[in-house]
Amino acid sequence: MPSVASPALANHQDAQLRQRAARVVPGGMTGHLNAAALPAGYPQFFERGQGCRVWDVDGNAYIDFMCSWGPNLLGHHHPEVDAAAARQQALGDCLNGPTPRFVELAERFVARSAHADWVLFQKNGTDATTVGVMVARAATGKRKVLVATKAYHGADPWCTPVPNGITAEDRAHLIYYTYNDVASLEAAAAAAGDDLAAIVCSAFKHDIGVDQELPRPEFARRARALCDKAGAALILDEVRAGYRMHAGGSWETVGVRPDLSAWSKSIANGYALAAVTGVDALRDAATRIYTTGSFWSGGVAMAAGLATLEVAESTDVVAHVHRMGQRFRDGIAAQATSHGVGVRQTGPAALPLILFDNDPGVDRGAVFAAEALRRGVYLHPRHNMFLSLAHTEQDIDLALQATDAAFALVAQRFGSH
Ligand SMILES: *Cc1c(COP(=O)(O)O)cnc(C)c1O
Repeated sequence: MPSVASPALANHQDAQLRQRAARVVPGGMTGHLNAAALPAGYPQFFERGQGCRVWDVDGNAYIDFMCSWGPNLLGHHHPEVDAAAARQQALGDCLNGPTPRFVELAERFVARSAHADWVLFQKNGTDATTVGVMVARAATGKRKVLVATKAYHGADPWCTPVPNGITAEDRAHLIYYTYNDVASLEAAAAAAGDDLAAIVCSAFKHDIGVDQELPRPEFARRARALCDKAGAALILDEVRAGYRMHAGGSWETVGVRPDLSAWSKSIANGYALAAVTGVDALRDAATRIYTTGSFWSGGVAMAAGLATLEVAESTDVVAHVHRMGQRFRDGIAAQATSHGVGVRQTGPAALPLILFDNDPGVDRGAVFAAEALRRGVYLHPRHNMFLSLAHTEQDIDLALQATDAAFALVAQRFGSH
């Protein structure tokens, strides 16, 4: 990716930490957090966060459009969430069994979604999607699971996007379809025959590096109907979109209710928590599977989850993140037009993605993001971003000043259109 010919940010501490990490951590960093996948200039290490701002280890401050890749729904260090977590921490976190917060949170969580009659808690989104598939297979006694090509559902062997270190057998019973494509979904269901356990769907299409797509109602309805016909479970992966798209569940927007939903990321505002919700018909299967973890019932994250729910519901966080995302999107669209640069903005406004036209190598996107970064705005050049309750109109407008300069640089480097 081309580097930006502008003064660099301070990066001395970051460079030192990267060198040290490279010696003791394979590759220096794993997975989605590896800053090597970002344009030059992006920091790897962060010192702190507050509201919608983060500071890297060299003291550079950024308006944060990643929100920790989703978890920080209410902003970093939300006072009510942190106070609830601190109160629980003073009492105990990891005990010989769960705290009362477990039941309190389960009740609140189930009350929130029309399709949820019960909930199981875990720690990560991968736990939740995996448990969802286990419940479906336990309930049906069937093996085949339909998943969309390129959709991200976590990093266990059945779903990790990079198949090194796994076997073909790990995926022997997956059948792939194309998101929003009814015919491909029908073909996949036909291929499963009478062995269909589940259809897994993302809340919306948010595959990295390509335009996002909201779920088409006819696609969602067909997924529902195919599951009903086969006695299979419709599993909605809410891990990315949950709490930002619709309070009661993302597919309420298309009028389709899943049998199981997988949640994580935003549900405890940065504390480690995941959940699977399900319908009564699957309660017995959810009772029969063996699924657990040393830290899954930790009280601190559950106290944080309860506080997150309270704040999210009393402030209508869905409306706020949508409004801020739309303000950002409108500003970006106007700037792109005025600089004569073609961009595509897709998906829900609260989870925005900006891709440049004629930019297969993300060269324009990289210059744009690196220049915004240099001006104190942390964007992602090819992954969806996230808005939070902490973003204000002033923050969005400040960020738009940086993106205006970034568009100017893109136009200068690459020309208009
Ligand atoms: C992040 C993500 C996961 C995995 O969650 P982890 O907490 O990283 O394990 C699963 N599904 C979707 C849609 C995600 O965005």
